[in-house]
Amino acid sequence: MKQCRECEAVIPDDAKLCPHCRVAQKRGDWLPQATLVGLSIAAAVAVLFEGCPGGPIG
Ligand SMILES: [Zn+2]
Repeated sequence: MKQCRECEAVIPDDAKLCPHCRVAQKRGDWLPQATLVGLSIAAAVAVLFEGCPGGPIG
């Protein structure tokens, strides 16, 4: 369950429209988490390259 962002009524998680005020509900609460995961991977890759002795081949 979640709250309508407009009228704050409790509505089902998968509801696309609030049954009370008919305001479309924003989806994609996972986006910030995906961004964090992407940043973590980018940081890990950067560390791998930084830690490579002698730098790139050539
Ligand atoms: Zn509502």
